[in-house]
Amino acid sequence: MSPFDADVIVIGGGPSGVAAAIEMRKRGAGRVTLLDREPALGGATRHCSHSPFGMLEFGRVYFGAAYGRKLEREAATAGVDIRTGHSVVQLEEGGAVTVTSGRGVETLRARRILVTTGAREKPRSARLLSGDRPIGVVTTGTLQAYIAFHGLVPFRRPLIVGSELVSLSAVLSCLTHGARPVAMIEPRSHALARPPLNWFPTLVGVPFHRGTDIVDIIGRDRVEAVTIRRNGELETLACDGVLLTGQFTPESALFLQSSIGVDTGSDGPAVDQYGRARDPLHFAAGNVLRAVETGGWAYREGRAIGRSLAADIGRDPEAAQPVAVTFDDPVKLVVPNILRRAASLPAAFQDFQLRFLRRAKGRLSLELDGREVWHASGTWMPERRVLVPIPATAPQAQHVHFRFREES
Ligand SMILES: Cc1cc2nc3c(=O)[nH]c(=O)nc-3n(C[C@H](O)[C@H](O)[C@H](O)COP(=O)(O)OP(=O)(O)OC[C@H]3O[C@@H](n4cnc5c(N)ncnc54)[C@H](O)[C@@H]3O)c2cc1C
Repeated sequence: MSPFDADVIVIGGGPSGVAAAIEMRKRGAGRVTLLDREPALGGATRHCSHSPFGMLEFGRVYFGAAYGRKLEREAATAGVDIRTGHSVVQLEEGGAVTVTSGRGVETLRARRILVTTGAREKPRSARLLSGDRPIGVVTTGTLQAYIAFHGLVPFRRPLIVGSELVSLSAVLSCLTHGARPVAMIEPRSHALARPPLNWFPTLVGVPFHRGTDIVDIIGRDRVEAVTIRRNGELETLACDGVLLTGQFTPESALFLQSSIGVDTGSDGPAVDQYGRARDPLHFAAGNVLRAVETGGWAYREGRAIGRSLAADIGRDPEAAQPVAVTFDDPVKLVVPNILRRAASLPAAFQDFQLRFLRRAKGRLSLELDGREVWHASGTWMPERRVLVPIPATAPQAQHVHFRFREES
């Protein structure tokens, strides 16, 4: 009898986990078990009552909830063993996971484990926001879940904090559900979303204040006002809610609690060019690798890593020690964060994905064993994706480093 319950256990049924599971089934993986703690697949897309999702992967545009249902149908058709209402609480040594469900607690074993647990916005507690503790202070994800699953809108005149892509999704959710934001604020001197998308709040009549942060929340039971600091001056703004948007962090608790750990730059697990973690029985894909990408990106990344993983299942686990990809400040993160000498596996990543911590002007270069192989100059914006092709010789190098030279 096989000691394994599955060939691969996938933890997380968002776009990346579903795409990887389908790809592995298409490539001949026997039993692919997909676990999700929620009652349905789709991940963060389930509560998005807006489009666009699915154009590149399914050739048409879906609203978030419909896209989630499409993912579930595709996974079922591909023969994936879907188990919703299953929460993974621990990654064990040797390819086992501890799972809780309506059946109680059980341990499942597989040849490989793929973690696709996504990312979440920073809640109030993690932002260390001072003031009263009234109801009505929520993240975009929570607001959208209230709307999608309970038909509730917790405010009518919220203040929106943040200016990432998801912040625009927050504006849209408010406007289409009877709430009109009093303003949108961003501590930096510029919006984080790119133009022309970042023109959206102003175009729909929501004042957008740059260089502004929130310093106090006022209200006993409900939010009554906030104190903001705008270009150094304190002012009080009447509102009945605070919508905290963006500042995503990978949902990487399972790695943090295991011997695998997380990468200090991305806060997700370090993975090599195949999506394989430092422990070669574990792979990861999607937003758990780095916050945060779109649903379509997560789907394509999941599919590519599913292809590598399917080829790895029948092999002995990789023994080669990885080489870490290092970088200078103000680069925030690089994915893949480690490289292993080329194996006979299809690479999942063609490019390094970089993010900057802050706006910086200067020259970014890639060095392999001290020799520059790529460079580009410009003004680099925080939280925007930068792609650098992975040279074919990179996995052979002992030192892989992104250098940054600031220029005035
Ligand atoms: C508010 C909001 C609006 C967005 N709007 C858009 C948009 O308009 N267009 C777009 O393209 N993208 C949008 N996105 C982004 C998109 O939803 C994500 O990029 C995509 O869902 C990420 O896919 P993923 O597979 O990496 O993770 P997720 O979709 O986050 O899925 C992770 C899954 O893992 C499960 N899980 C986590 N931990 C465990 C555990 N321990 N055990 C079992 N299951 C677990 C979760 O339940 C979840 O189902 C939005 C995101 C948010 C939050």
